[in-house]
Amino acid sequence: MDTDVIIAGAGPTGLMLAAELRLAGVRPLVLERQPQRRDTPKAGGLGGPILQLLCCRGLLERFEAACAPTNSMSISAADTRWSG
Ligand SMILES: Cc1cc2nc3c(=O)[nH]c(=O)nc-3n(C[C@H](O)[C@H](O)[C@H](O)COP(=O)(O)OP(=O)(O)OC[C@H]3O[C@@H](n4cnc5c(N)ncnc54)[C@H](O)[C@@H]3O)c2cc1C
Repeated sequence: MDTDVIIAGAGPTGLMLAAELRLAGVRPLVLERQPQRRDTPKAGGLGGPILQLLCCRGLLERFEAACAPTNSMSISAADTRWSG
């Protein structure tokens, strides 16, 4: 198997790390011990430095779009913009 890095856990940290490594040309393998996705979400909103990271990667607008009024997810300080 062509893997440079093994990441234990497919939570937000592991998946974001895998994405960042891939962008850097590193081949990650993410291993998750839970066989199925949780029934309940582990986040109802986003705030703080994660918004800057999402903005730098051009992902913030997609998250904002997913947080339409019909969705229970919220983004705080969503009107703030950062340059990446
Ligand atoms: C009920 C609830 C509500 C929350 N609401 C919010 C919110 O509104 N906003 C917010 O920003 N944050 C919220 N949080 C916190 C947020 O969910 C966590 O900060 C975030 O999930 C942390 O991500 P993580 O990837 O570090 O860890 P986790 O999400 O815990 O992911 C770790 C993953 O690694 C897997 N794993 C662990 N050990 C191993 C192993 N040895 N081998 C393979 N896999 C392994 C686990 O199964 C898990 O899937 C909430 C949390 C909970 C529980």
